[in-house]
Amino acid sequence: MSINGLSTQKWTQESQPANLEEILSDGSVKCHLSPRNCVIKEGRVGFCKVRANRNGRLVTLNYGKGVHNTQETIETEAVFHFSPGEKILSLGNIGCMLNCGYCHNWKTSQAKYVTDKDVYYYTPEQVIESALRHGIKVLSWTYNDPVVWHEFILDTAKLAKEAGLINLYKSAFFITEEAIDELLPVIDIFSISLKSSSSEYYRKVTTGWIEPVLEGIKKVYHAGKHVEISTLMVTDISDNEDSARTISKWILDELDPSVPLHFVRFHPDYKMANSTRTPIDRLHKAKTIAQEMGLKHVYLGNINDDEATNSYCYQCSSLLVTRYGLNAENVGLDKTGHCLKCGHYNNFITLQKTHSKKPINPKHLNISDYEKKEFHWHGDIVSIHAQVANTTNISNIIFFRRIMENKMHGEWEHISLVPKESYRFIIAKSKPQELGTEFLLPPGISSNLHEVFDRAHFPTEAIEDIGISMNDTTPKIGYKGKQNMYPQLIKMVNNDEN
Ligand code: SF4
Repeated sequence: MSINGLSTQKWTQESQPANLEEILSDGSVKCHLSPRNCVIKEGRVGFCKVRANRNGRLVTLNYGKGVHNTQETIETEAVFHFSPGEKILSLGNIGCMLNCGYCHNWKTSQAKYVTDKDVYYYTPEQVIESALRHGIKVLSWTYNDPVVWHEFILDTAKLAKEAGLINLYKSAFFITEEAIDELLPVIDIFSISLKSSSSEYYRKVTTGWIEPVLEGIKKVYHAGKHVEISTLMVTDISDNEDSARTISKWILDELDPSVPLHFVRFHPDYKMANSTRTPIDRLHKAKTIAQEMGLKHVYLGNINDDEATNSYCYQCSSLLVTRYGLNAENVGLDKTGHCLKCGHYNNFITLQKTHSKKPINPKHLNISDYEKKEFHWHGDIVSIHAQVANTTNISNIIFFRRIMENKMHGEWEHISLVPKESYRFIIAKSKPQELGTEFLLPPGISSNLHEVFDRAHFPTEAIEDIGISMNDTTPKIGYKGKQNMYPQLIKMVNNDEN
Protein backbone atom coordinates (compact mmCIF):
# COMPACT_ATOMS: atom_id res chain seq x y z
CA MET A 1 0.00 0.00 0.00
CA SER A 2 1.26 3.47 -0.81
CA ILE A 3 1.12 5.88 2.09
CA ASN A 4 1.86 9.32 0.70
CA GLY A 5 5.12 8.15 -0.81
CA LEU A 6 6.11 6.10 2.25
CA SER A 7 5.47 2.69 0.68
CA THR A 8 9.20 1.98 0.67
CA GLN A 9 9.44 2.36 4.45
CA LYS A 10 9.32 -1.00 6.20
CA TRP A 11 7.70 0.44 9.32
CA THR A 12 4.48 1.22 7.43
CA GLN A 13 3.90 -2.35 6.27
CA GLU A 14 2.55 -4.11 9.35
CA SER A 15 -0.60 -3.01 11.11
CA GLN A 16 -2.71 -3.85 14.16
CA PRO A 17 -6.46 -3.39 14.74
CA ALA A 18 -7.24 0.07 16.12
CA ASN A 19 -9.69 1.14 18.83
CA LEU A 20 -12.33 3.83 18.37
CA GLU A 21 -13.34 2.89 14.84
CA GLU A 22 -16.68 3.45 13.15
CA ILE A 23 -17.33 1.37 10.06
CA LEU A 24 -19.24 3.31 7.41
CA SER A 25 -21.55 1.76 4.80
CA ASP A 26 -19.40 2.81 1.82
CA GLY A 27 -16.33 0.90 3.05
CA SER A 28 -14.74 3.93 4.70
CA VAL A 29 -13.90 4.04 8.40
CA LYS A 30 -14.18 6.95 10.78
CA CYS A 31 -11.52 7.38 13.46
CA HIS A 32 -12.70 8.64 16.86
CA LEU A 33 -9.24 9.02 18.45
CA SER A 34 -8.63 12.72 17.82
CA PRO A 35 -11.26 15.40 17.19
CA ARG A 36 -10.41 15.41 13.47
CA ASN A 37 -12.59 12.29 13.17
CA CYS A 38 -10.95 11.46 9.85
CA VAL A 39 -13.10 9.50 7.43
CA ILE A 40 -10.60 7.20 5.74
CA LYS A 41 -11.19 5.40 2.46
CA GLU A 42 -9.89 1.89 1.74
CA GLY A 43 -6.09 1.90 1.35
CA ARG A 44 -5.68 5.46 2.65
CA VAL A 45 -4.38 6.99 5.90
CA GLY A 46 -5.72 9.68 8.21
CA PHE A 47 -4.21 13.11 8.84
CA CYS A 48 -1.66 11.62 11.27
CA LYS A 49 -0.55 9.06 8.63
CA VAL A 50 -0.27 6.33 11.26
CA ARG A 51 -3.89 5.16 11.20
CA ALA A 52 -5.24 3.60 8.02
CA ASN A 53 -8.15 1.81 6.44
CA ARG A 54 -7.16 -1.75 5.50
CA ASN A 55 -9.89 -4.03 4.18
CA GLY A 56 -12.58 -1.74 5.56
CA ARG A 57 -11.21 -1.73 9.10
CA LEU A 58 -9.34 0.96 11.04
CA VAL A 59 -5.77 -0.10 11.82
CA THR A 60 -2.78 1.46 13.53
CA LEU A 61 0.56 1.40 11.70
CA ASN A 62 2.79 2.35 14.64
CA TYR A 63 1.90 -0.23 17.31
CA GLY A 64 5.17 -1.02 19.14
CA LYS A 65 7.13 1.22 16.78
CA GLY A 66 8.77 4.37 18.06
CA VAL A 67 11.96 6.25 18.63
CA HIS A 68 14.60 4.84 20.97
CA ASN A 69 13.41 4.65 24.60
CA THR A 70 15.34 7.19 26.65
CA GLN A 71 16.09 7.60 30.35
CA GLU A 72 15.48 11.22 31.39
CA THR A 73 14.31 13.11 34.50
CA ILE A 74 10.70 14.02 35.21
CA GLU A 75 11.58 17.73 34.81
CA THR A 76 12.04 17.00 31.08
CA GLU A 77 8.26 16.66 30.89
CA ALA A 78 7.35 19.94 32.62
CA VAL A 79 6.33 18.00 35.71
CA PHE A 80 7.71 19.77 38.78
CA HIS A 81 5.30 18.64 41.51
CA PHE A 82 5.61 14.86 41.22
CA SER A 83 8.70 13.35 42.83
CA PRO A 84 11.26 16.03 41.82
CA GLY A 85 14.37 14.63 40.13
CA GLU A 86 12.70 11.24 39.48
CA LYS A 87 14.17 9.11 36.68
CA ILE A 88 11.70 8.39 33.87
CA LEU A 89 11.74 6.22 30.77
CA SER A 90 10.61 8.45 27.91
CA LEU A 91 8.76 6.70 25.08
CA GLY A 92 8.02 8.47 21.83
CA ASN A 93 6.45 7.20 18.63
CA ILE A 94 5.74 8.27 15.05
CA GLY A 95 3.10 10.65 13.71
CA CYS A 96 0.88 13.34 15.21
CA MET A 97 -2.70 14.56 15.04
CA LEU A 98 -1.34 18.13 14.81
CA ASN A 99 1.29 19.85 12.68
CA CYS A 100 2.59 22.83 14.69
CA GLY A 101 4.75 25.24 12.71
CA TYR A 102 7.53 25.25 15.33
CA CYS A 103 7.54 21.53 16.24
CA HIS A 104 11.02 20.59 17.46
CA ASN A 105 10.20 16.91 16.97
CA TRP A 106 8.92 17.41 13.39
CA LYS A 107 11.30 14.72 12.08
CA THR A 108 9.30 12.07 13.96
CA SER A 109 5.92 13.76 14.50
CA GLN A 110 5.38 14.20 10.77
CA ALA A 111 5.35 10.58 9.59
CA LYS A 112 6.40 11.39 6.03
CA TYR A 113 9.88 12.33 7.30
CA VAL A 114 10.34 9.13 9.32
CA THR A 115 12.74 6.64 7.81
CA ASP A 116 13.38 3.07 8.92
CA LYS A 117 16.64 4.06 10.61
CA ASP A 118 14.68 6.21 13.09
CA VAL A 119 12.33 3.41 14.14
CA TYR A 120 12.84 0.94 17.00
CA TYR A 121 10.53 -1.97 17.75
CA TYR A 122 9.32 -2.77 21.28
CA THR A 123 6.80 -5.05 22.93
CA PRO A 124 4.98 -3.90 26.08
CA GLU A 125 6.92 -6.53 28.04
CA GLN A 126 10.28 -5.22 26.78
CA VAL A 127 9.41 -1.68 27.89
CA ILE A 128 8.49 -2.81 31.41
CA GLU A 129 11.54 -5.06 31.70
CA SER A 130 13.89 -2.25 30.69
CA ALA A 131 12.35 0.22 33.16
CA LEU A 132 12.50 -2.22 36.05
CA ARG A 133 16.05 -3.32 35.31
CA HIS A 134 17.27 0.28 35.27
CA GLY A 135 15.46 1.20 38.48
CA ILE A 136 12.92 3.49 36.75
CA LYS A 137 9.48 3.96 38.33
CA VAL A 138 7.82 6.29 35.82
CA LEU A 139 7.03 5.63 32.14
CA SER A 140 6.59 8.87 30.20
CA TRP A 141 4.55 8.81 26.98
CA THR A 142 5.99 11.82 25.20
CA TYR A 143 7.92 13.54 22.35
CA ASN A 144 5.95 13.64 19.03
CA ASP A 145 2.67 13.07 20.87
CA PRO A 146 1.27 10.01 22.61
CA VAL A 147 -2.31 10.46 21.34
CA VAL A 148 -1.57 8.60 18.08
CA TRP A 149 0.08 5.67 19.95
CA HIS A 150 -3.15 4.88 21.76
CA GLU A 151 -3.36 1.09 21.60
CA PHE A 152 0.31 0.47 22.43
CA ILE A 153 0.06 2.87 25.37
CA LEU A 154 -3.06 1.22 26.75
CA ASP A 155 -1.49 -2.25 26.60
CA THR A 156 1.86 -1.17 28.04
CA ALA A 157 0.52 1.21 30.68
CA LYS A 158 -1.78 -1.53 32.00
CA LEU A 159 1.18 -3.90 32.39
CA ALA A 160 3.21 -1.07 33.92
CA LYS A 161 0.56 -0.45 36.57
CA GLU A 162 0.49 -4.15 37.40
CA ALA A 163 4.27 -3.94 37.86
CA GLY A 164 3.89 -0.97 40.24
CA LEU A 165 5.04 1.70 37.76
CA ILE A 166 3.54 5.17 37.23
CA ASN A 167 2.38 6.42 33.80
CA LEU A 168 2.92 10.01 32.70
CA TYR A 169 1.21 11.38 29.58
CA LYS A 170 2.86 14.47 28.04
CA SER A 171 0.68 15.74 25.25
CA ALA A 172 -0.86 18.59 23.30
CA PHE A 173 -4.06 16.71 24.17
CA PHE A 174 -5.97 17.17 20.94
CA ILE A 175 -7.97 14.07 21.75
CA THR A 176 -11.61 12.93 21.99
CA GLU A 177 -13.49 12.31 25.21
CA GLU A 178 -13.93 8.64 24.25
CA ALA A 179 -10.17 8.22 24.00
CA ILE A 180 -9.64 9.96 27.36
CA ASP A 181 -12.12 7.53 28.93
CA GLU A 182 -9.84 4.69 27.82
CA LEU A 183 -6.74 6.41 29.21
CA LEU A 184 -8.09 7.35 32.64
CA PRO A 185 -7.77 3.88 34.23
CA VAL A 186 -4.05 3.66 33.41
CA ILE A 187 -2.56 7.18 33.34
CA ASP A 188 -1.53 8.85 36.62
CA ILE A 189 0.00 12.17 35.51
CA PHE A 190 -1.05 14.46 32.67
CA SER A 191 1.43 17.14 31.56
CA ILE A 192 -0.49 19.10 28.98
CA SER A 193 0.79 21.62 26.53
CA LEU A 194 -1.89 24.33 26.27
CA LYS A 195 -0.33 26.16 23.38
CA SER A 196 -2.33 29.36 23.56
CA SER A 197 -5.63 30.75 24.73
CA SER A 198 -6.47 31.93 21.22
CA SER A 199 -8.68 29.93 18.84
CA GLU A 200 -7.05 31.62 15.85
CA TYR A 201 -3.56 30.68 17.06
CA TYR A 202 -4.66 27.04 17.37
CA ARG A 203 -6.09 27.01 13.85
CA LYS A 204 -3.13 28.75 12.20
CA VAL A 205 -0.12 27.49 14.16
CA THR A 206 -1.16 23.97 15.22
CA THR A 207 -3.77 23.03 12.55
CA GLY A 208 -6.06 21.93 15.41
CA TRP A 209 -8.65 23.75 17.47
CA ILE A 210 -8.66 24.72 21.12
CA GLU A 211 -12.06 23.55 22.44
CA PRO A 212 -11.33 19.81 22.78
CA VAL A 213 -7.99 20.59 24.45
CA LEU A 214 -9.67 22.70 27.13
CA GLU A 215 -12.42 20.12 27.65
CA GLY A 216 -9.82 17.36 27.87
CA ILE A 217 -7.83 19.17 30.54
CA LYS A 218 -10.96 19.72 32.62
CA LYS A 219 -11.90 16.06 32.27
CA VAL A 220 -8.58 14.65 33.52
CA TYR A 221 -8.33 17.26 36.28
CA HIS A 222 -11.84 16.48 37.57
CA ALA A 223 -11.01 12.77 37.39
CA GLY A 224 -8.48 13.51 40.15
CA LYS A 225 -5.31 13.09 38.10
CA HIS A 226 -2.10 15.00 38.75
CA VAL A 227 -2.15 17.78 36.13
CA GLU A 228 0.50 20.34 35.14
CA ILE A 229 0.13 22.79 32.28
CA SER A 230 2.79 24.31 30.09
CA THR A 231 2.57 27.05 27.48
CA LEU A 232 5.23 27.68 24.85
CA MET A 233 5.81 31.44 24.63
CA VAL A 234 6.54 31.95 20.93
CA THR A 235 8.49 35.13 20.28
CA ASP A 236 6.30 38.05 19.18
CA ILE A 237 3.32 35.74 18.71
CA SER A 238 2.24 34.32 22.07
CA ASP A 239 4.83 35.66 24.54
CA ASN A 240 2.66 38.65 25.40
CA GLU A 241 1.01 39.69 28.66
CA ASP A 242 -2.47 39.02 27.36
CA SER A 243 -1.60 35.40 26.70
CA ALA A 244 -0.28 34.97 30.28
CA ARG A 245 -3.42 36.62 31.64
CA THR A 246 -6.00 34.58 29.70
CA ILE A 247 -4.32 31.24 30.37
CA SER A 248 -3.99 32.04 34.09
CA LYS A 249 -7.63 33.14 34.26
CA TRP A 250 -8.77 29.92 32.61
CA ILE A 251 -6.84 27.79 35.13
CA LEU A 252 -8.28 29.82 38.02
CA ASP A 253 -11.84 29.61 36.66
CA GLU A 254 -11.86 25.98 35.52
CA LEU A 255 -9.23 24.15 37.61
CA ASP A 256 -7.64 25.54 40.76
CA PRO A 257 -4.80 27.88 41.77
CA SER A 258 -2.50 25.06 42.88
CA VAL A 259 -2.20 23.52 39.40
CA PRO A 260 1.42 24.18 38.33
CA LEU A 261 1.82 26.37 35.23
CA HIS A 262 5.02 26.50 33.18
CA PHE A 263 5.85 29.31 30.74
CA VAL A 264 8.29 27.73 28.31
CA ARG A 265 11.00 29.39 26.23
CA PHE A 266 10.73 28.85 22.49
CA HIS A 267 13.57 28.08 20.07
CA PRO A 268 13.41 28.51 16.27
CA ASP A 269 12.71 25.24 14.46
CA TYR A 270 10.84 23.50 11.59
CA LYS A 271 8.79 26.03 9.56
CA MET A 272 9.68 28.80 12.01
CA ALA A 273 13.47 28.51 12.02
CA ASN A 274 13.63 32.13 10.84
CA SER A 275 12.54 33.38 14.27
CA THR A 276 14.36 34.11 17.55
CA ARG A 277 14.36 32.68 21.07
CA THR A 278 11.84 34.14 23.50
CA PRO A 279 13.37 37.09 25.38
CA ILE A 280 13.74 35.96 29.00
CA ASP A 281 12.27 39.17 30.45
CA ARG A 282 8.94 38.37 28.72
CA LEU A 283 8.86 34.99 30.43
CA HIS A 284 9.48 36.62 33.80
CA LYS A 285 6.73 39.13 33.10
CA ALA A 286 4.30 36.28 32.32
CA LYS A 287 5.24 34.56 35.58
CA THR A 288 4.66 37.73 37.59
CA ILE A 289 1.24 38.24 36.00
CA ALA A 290 0.16 34.65 36.72
CA GLN A 291 1.31 34.88 40.33
CA GLU A 292 -0.36 38.25 40.88
CA MET A 293 -3.59 36.77 39.55
CA GLY A 294 -3.42 34.06 42.21
CA LEU A 295 -1.69 31.00 40.72
CA LYS A 296 0.46 29.41 43.42
CA HIS A 297 3.08 27.49 41.44
CA VAL A 298 4.35 29.20 38.30
CA TYR A 299 7.62 28.26 36.61
CA LEU A 300 9.76 29.06 33.61
CA GLY A 301 10.98 26.31 31.29
CA ASN A 302 13.90 25.87 28.90
CA ILE A 303 16.06 28.19 30.96
CA ASN A 304 18.84 26.91 33.15
CA ASP A 305 20.37 29.07 35.77
CA ASP A 306 17.33 30.95 37.07
CA GLU A 307 15.47 31.00 40.37
CA ALA A 308 12.20 31.01 38.44
CA THR A 309 12.64 27.24 38.07
CA ASN A 310 12.84 26.62 41.86
CA SER A 311 9.89 25.74 44.10
CA TYR A 312 9.11 27.81 47.19
CA CYS A 313 6.52 27.18 49.89
CA TYR A 314 3.38 29.18 49.13
CA GLN A 315 2.86 29.81 52.84
CA CYS A 316 6.30 30.49 54.37
CA SER A 317 8.42 31.06 51.19
CA SER A 318 11.00 28.42 52.19
CA LEU A 319 13.01 26.93 49.36
CA LEU A 320 11.55 23.45 48.66
CA VAL A 321 13.19 22.25 45.42
CA THR A 322 16.20 23.67 43.60
CA ARG A 323 16.45 23.15 39.87
CA TYR A 324 19.16 23.69 37.32
CA GLY A 325 18.15 22.79 33.79
CA LEU A 326 16.65 19.33 33.90
CA ASN A 327 18.10 18.49 37.32
CA ALA A 328 16.24 18.88 40.60
CA GLU A 329 17.03 18.47 44.26
CA ASN A 330 14.55 18.26 47.11
CA VAL A 331 15.86 20.56 49.85
CA GLY A 332 12.72 21.38 51.81
CA LEU A 333 9.99 18.74 51.38
CA ASP A 334 9.23 15.97 53.85
CA LYS A 335 8.43 12.41 52.79
CA THR A 336 4.76 13.26 52.26
CA GLY A 337 5.45 16.34 50.13
CA HIS A 338 4.81 18.94 52.85
CA CYS A 339 7.06 21.91 53.62
CA LEU A 340 9.66 20.84 56.18
CA LYS A 341 9.56 24.24 57.84
CA CYS A 342 5.85 25.09 58.20
CA GLY A 343 4.10 21.84 57.17
CA HIS A 344 2.11 23.48 54.35
CA TYR A 345 1.05 21.19 51.48
CA ASN A 346 2.15 22.65 48.15
CA ASN A 347 0.54 20.05 45.89
CA PHE A 348 3.65 17.85 45.74
CA ILE A 349 3.41 14.09 45.35
CA THR A 350 6.51 12.22 46.44
CA LEU A 351 7.59 8.66 45.76
CA GLN A 352 9.58 6.57 48.15
CA LYS A 353 13.25 7.13 47.46
CA THR A 354 15.20 4.26 45.94
CA HIS A 355 18.64 3.65 47.36
CA SER A 356 21.17 5.07 44.95
CA LYS A 357 23.47 2.69 43.14
CA LYS A 358 26.72 1.86 44.89
CA PRO A 359 29.40 3.81 42.98
CA ILE A 360 32.09 1.90 41.11
CA ASN A 361 35.37 3.63 40.43
CA PRO A 362 36.57 2.58 36.96
CA LYS A 363 40.14 3.30 38.06
CA HIS A 364 39.91 0.06 40.04
CA LEU A 365 39.22 -1.83 36.82
CA ASN A 366 41.56 -2.56 33.98
CA ILE A 367 40.53 0.33 31.72
CA SER A 368 43.55 0.65 29.47
CA ASP A 369 41.53 -0.50 26.45
CA TYR A 370 38.42 1.59 27.26
CA GLU A 371 37.36 4.25 24.74
CA LYS A 372 37.30 7.79 26.16
CA LYS A 373 34.78 10.29 24.84
CA GLU A 374 33.97 13.87 25.83
CA PHE A 375 31.26 16.38 25.08
CA HIS A 376 31.44 20.05 26.07
CA TRP A 377 28.37 22.23 26.69
CA HIS A 378 28.20 25.16 24.30
CA GLY A 379 25.78 28.04 24.08
CA ASP A 380 22.25 26.79 24.62
CA ILE A 381 23.27 23.13 24.20
CA VAL A 382 23.25 22.02 27.82
CA SER A 383 21.99 18.47 27.51
CA ILE A 384 22.72 15.44 25.35
CA HIS A 385 21.29 12.02 24.71
CA ALA A 386 23.96 9.32 24.86
CA GLN A 387 23.03 6.11 23.05
CA VAL A 388 25.12 3.07 23.88
CA ALA A 389 24.83 -0.45 22.51
CA ASN A 390 26.42 -3.54 24.00
CA THR A 391 27.41 -5.59 20.96
CA THR A 392 28.90 -8.41 23.07
CA ASN A 393 27.40 -11.55 24.60
CA ILE A 394 28.41 -10.56 28.11
CA SER A 395 27.09 -7.89 30.47
CA ASN A 396 29.03 -4.64 30.44
CA ILE A 397 29.25 -1.38 32.37
CA ILE A 398 29.70 2.09 30.92
CA PHE A 399 30.91 5.06 32.98
CA PHE A 400 30.37 8.81 32.76
CA ARG A 401 31.10 11.84 34.91
CA ARG A 402 30.71 15.59 34.79
CA ILE A 403 33.71 17.68 33.71
CA MET A 404 34.10 20.66 36.03
CA GLU A 405 36.22 23.80 36.06
CA ASN A 406 39.60 23.40 37.79
CA LYS A 407 39.43 19.61 37.25
CA MET A 408 37.09 19.21 40.25
CA HIS A 409 35.20 16.55 38.27
CA GLY A 410 32.04 14.82 39.46
CA GLU A 411 31.89 11.25 40.78
CA TRP A 412 31.88 8.46 38.20
CA GLU A 413 28.36 7.19 37.51
CA HIS A 414 27.62 3.98 35.69
CA ILE A 415 24.97 2.13 33.69
CA SER A 416 24.91 -1.67 33.36
CA LEU A 417 23.99 -3.19 30.02
CA VAL A 418 22.90 -6.78 29.43
CA PRO A 419 24.21 -8.60 26.33
CA LYS A 420 23.06 -6.94 23.07
CA GLU A 421 21.23 -4.17 24.92
CA SER A 422 20.87 -0.72 23.40
CA TYR A 423 20.21 2.08 25.91
CA ARG A 424 19.78 5.83 25.60
CA PHE A 425 19.96 8.35 28.44
CA ILE A 426 20.11 12.08 28.96
CA ILE A 427 22.84 14.02 30.71
CA ALA A 428 21.98 17.64 31.44
CA LYS A 429 24.23 20.40 32.75
CA SER A 430 23.68 20.63 36.49
CA LYS A 431 25.84 23.55 37.66
CA PRO A 432 27.18 26.83 36.21
CA GLN A 433 30.79 25.62 36.61
CA GLU A 434 30.14 22.35 34.76
CA LEU A 435 31.88 22.20 31.37
CA GLY A 436 30.62 18.93 29.89
CA THR A 437 30.63 15.15 30.23
CA GLU A 438 33.25 12.46 29.92
CA PHE A 439 32.55 8.80 29.08
CA LEU A 440 34.55 5.59 29.54
CA LEU A 441 33.35 2.78 27.29
CA PRO A 442 34.61 -0.81 27.46
CA PRO A 443 35.43 -2.76 24.28
CA GLY A 444 32.34 -3.95 22.42
CA ILE A 445 30.25 -0.86 23.26
CA SER A 446 29.23 1.33 20.36
CA SER A 447 28.08 4.82 21.21
CA ASN A 448 26.80 8.05 19.76
CA LEU A 449 25.77 11.41 21.18
CA HIS A 450 22.86 13.65 20.19
CA GLU A 451 22.58 17.35 21.00
CA VAL A 452 19.28 18.15 22.73
CA PHE A 453 17.61 21.48 21.96
CA ASP A 454 15.33 22.15 24.93
CA ARG A 455 13.28 19.67 26.91
CA ALA A 456 11.17 16.87 25.42
CA HIS A 457 13.21 17.12 22.24
CA PHE A 458 14.16 13.81 20.63
CA PRO A 459 17.14 14.35 18.33
CA THR A 460 17.43 11.76 15.59
CA GLU A 461 20.86 12.74 14.24
CA ALA A 462 24.12 11.90 16.05
CA ILE A 463 27.04 14.31 16.24
CA GLU A 464 29.29 11.48 15.04
CA ASP A 465 27.37 11.73 11.73
CA ILE A 466 26.58 15.44 11.38
CA GLY A 467 29.09 17.12 13.70
CA ILE A 468 28.48 19.61 16.48
CA SER A 469 26.03 22.42 15.75
CA MET A 470 27.62 25.84 15.33
CA ASN A 471 24.29 27.58 15.75
CA ASP A 472 23.18 26.58 19.21
CA THR A 473 19.58 27.78 18.97
CA THR A 474 18.29 25.48 16.26
CA PRO A 475 19.32 21.95 15.16
CA LYS A 476 21.90 21.55 12.42
CA ILE A 477 19.75 19.40 10.15
CA GLY A 478 16.71 21.57 9.60
CA TYR A 479 13.48 21.50 7.66
CA LYS A 480 14.12 22.07 3.95
CA GLY A 481 10.71 23.50 3.08
CA LYS A 482 9.48 27.09 3.15
CA GLN A 483 10.17 29.35 6.11
CA ASN A 484 7.44 31.88 5.47
CA MET A 485 5.13 30.99 8.32
CA TYR A 486 6.66 33.17 11.04
CA PRO A 487 6.24 36.62 9.43
CA GLN A 488 2.66 35.72 8.48
CA LEU A 489 1.85 34.82 12.06
CA ILE A 490 3.33 38.01 13.45
CA LYS A 491 1.19 39.89 10.94
CA MET A 492 -1.87 37.97 12.09
CA VAL A 493 -1.22 38.91 15.75
CA ASN A 494 -0.66 42.57 14.86
CA ASN A 495 -3.82 42.69 12.75
CA ASP A 496 -5.76 41.30 15.68
CA GLU A 497 -4.47 44.05 17.90
CA ASN A 498 -5.46 46.82 15.45
S1 SF4 B 1 -5.88 9.99 15.19
FE1 SF4 B 1 -6.84 11.89 14.50
S2 SF4 B 1 -5.60 12.45 12.71
FE2 SF4 B 1 -5.19 10.26 13.08
S3 SF4 B 1 -6.68 9.18 11.82
FE3 SF4 B 1 -7.59 9.40 13.86
S4 SF4 B 1 -8.83 11.26 13.70
FE4 SF4 B 1 -7.38 11.31 11.97
